[in-house]
Amino acid sequence: MKHKSRSNDPCKAVSFRYKASQELDSLFQDFRLMCNDAIRIALKQKPKSRIDLIKIAYPSLKEYGLHTHYILSACEVAYSVCKNKNRVKDPYIKQAFLKLDNPSYTLNHLLLRIPVRPREFIYLTLQGSDYHLRFIDDPTLKRGSITLTGRTVSIAFSKETAKIKPLGNIGIDMNERNITWSDTTGKTEMIDISEVADLKENYKHLRANIGRKTRQDHRISQKLYAKYGRRERKRTVQRLHIASKKIVRHAKQHRLQIIMEKLKGIRKLYRKGNGQGKSFRGRMNNWSFREIQHQIEYKAKWEGVPVTYINPKGTSRNCPICDSPVATLAERKLYCPKYDKTWDRDELASLNIAAMKMACVVPQAQPSTDEAVKRNPNLGNPPSRKMEVNSHVPKSYSLSFNFLPIDL
Ligand SMILES: [Zn+2]
Repeated sequence: MKHKSRSNDPCKAVSFRYKASQELDSLFQDFRLMCNDAIRIALKQKPKSRIDLIKIAYPSLKEYGLHTHYILSACEVAYSVCKNKNRVKDPYIKQAFLKLDNPSYTLNHLLLRIPVRPREFIYLTLQGSDYHLRFIDDPTLKRGSITLTGRTVSIAFSKETAKIKPLGNIGIDMNERNITWSDTTGKTEMIDISEVADLKENYKHLRANIGRKTRQDHRISQKLYAKYGRRERKRTVQRLHIASKKIVRHAKQHRLQIIMEKLKGIRKLYRKGNGQGKSFRGRMNNWSFREIQHQIEYKAKWEGVPVTYINPKGTSRNCPICDSPVATLAERKLYCPKYDKTWDRDELASLNIAAMKMACVVPQAQPSTDEAVKRNPNLGNPPSRKMEVNSHVPKSYSLSFNFLPIDL
């Protein structure tokens, strides 16, 4: 099962721009029609498997005269569309796209060759920056499937990464306006992300304005919401990338395991003293915290840096040095009476996260839960505290385009 080993390797989709051509337009069009034909066949004949659908649909899809690969690909698309539990009654594919597996395309530097019909090809010149070329020219990376849309070609790269044996931990505490990390060597950094919070706030006002100004026309308002939603997302993601990159780089350099809080739903929504209203906190948190965790997780995976999640309960309750309960001095200041030290709340939380003092370790798929708990036997968890292990395995974020399964 070659796909099994491949799916465990970290995977990254890199998007390239290219110049559209008319040839490609008609290929898009044909492929879309093929997919929709296959969908209709699947709905009618109810095949039991992908292979089944291919057998049934092959003769009629062959009429299009395209390379066999497109028949298989259209059947896969149709099968997964029809299997989707949330699908509409009569699913229909509107968008132009193509998906090609590795052996069916060739990529020579930035020149992409894709098949159309037997012995007939389309050549596309991709536009690549230095960033893109780093992936193209890296011989250690494996190329997986490519997905073409009207404007971009997305290439899935994967690599075999040896997992780093950690020498220590880095704990990350996420807040409204900063991401604070501390590692077990005693280094702490607060990365300011107030720009992201401000951005969110601005877009919130913008959305309110759209709502007021376009009250009469639902279609226009939907269009504008979508446009500004995309823009907002793009800008936020860019800013968070800078932070996540920095953290993963530090972890890799110093061989640290990344520890994050498993944020269930809306926990931080109720964290007061952030200076924002409730509704703002809620929206901002839900999305941004997940986004930053997602980014850190996949970047870490790419670099072979291990990531562990812990239960967020009580991360700012006790002193990281002497473990006695801390008192709240001001909104973001905590005081340890035993050690006579004042802590910044975010720093204290990140230190506690790095030390994994909290009772519950929420495991990733690997390492095993036992290992994750045993790794810190000397941290002095009070025996009364339950060593409860949450069996919930967080969703792993693979960047491969797995909306179209390719394991034929
Ligand atoms: Zn203390």
